[in-house]
Amino acid sequence: MFVANWKMNGSSITVKEWLNIISSSDNLNKCIFCPPLLYLKEANEFISEKKLSLSLGAQDIDPENNISLTGGISPSMLKDVGCKYSIIGHSERRNFYKEDSTLLIDKVSICLKEGIKVIFCIGESLEERNSGQTKEILSQQLRALDGFSSENLMVAYEPVWAIGSGRIPLLEDISETSDYLIDELISLGHKQEEITILYGGSVDASNAKEIYQLKSVSGLLIGGASLDGEQFLKIIG
Ligand code: PEP
Repeated sequence: MFVANWKMNGSSITVKEWLNIISSSDNLNKCIFCPPLLYLKEANEFISEKKLSLSLGAQDIDPENNISLTGGISPSMLKDVGCKYSIIGHSERRNFYKEDSTLLIDKVSICLKEGIKVIFCIGESLEERNSGQTKEILSQQLRALDGFSSENLMVAYEPVWAIGSGRIPLLEDISETSDYLIDELISLGHKQEEITILYGGSVDASNAKEIYQLKSVSGLLIGGASLDGEQFLKIIG
């Protein structure tokens, strides 16, 4: 899988231009496009009109349906605009909005109940890595997935220090950490054959292939480099 996370970037025009560029790929069925919420509807219309096989995802979701929550976006609204996935627990939201496990569990829970597949992000900060706490932090974050199944859920390992920095861990480290995450998920009762681990953090056309080829990595979450249609095409092949 290849997840394009546009964050707070793009416009009506660039969304359509981008979809036009990537529409030549044979791997669109492996792609999930997560533009800003405002552009999901027109992206969905474009995708339907051109019969493209990529899926749409939201970058975040609220943990309720139809309550009094100003600014809230519910799972039913996302489904209404053709959204099949939602990113949950991105480090930017954990850090900016102090989203904690309790809230994230509620988000995961409502998504799975309402039929929205989850892309659950976890990752250690540089400080945590340097103090040898990586595994402990990842295990803590993964505990939010206790009691859920991996059938409709992917885990994106995104070291916080690698996001947007141009720095990525060594391939051996990505591989070892992904293996560790698989073991941890199994110990939480997830079925091995359903587990999907993505890697995210400074993936671009120059490094995507070698990361994607790692045995325990089933896909990539791409931020900055996904904004450029030509570069995203190179990444997805
Ligand atoms: C991200 O948005 O989660 C991300 C990985 O960004 P980038 O690819 O720009 O590091």
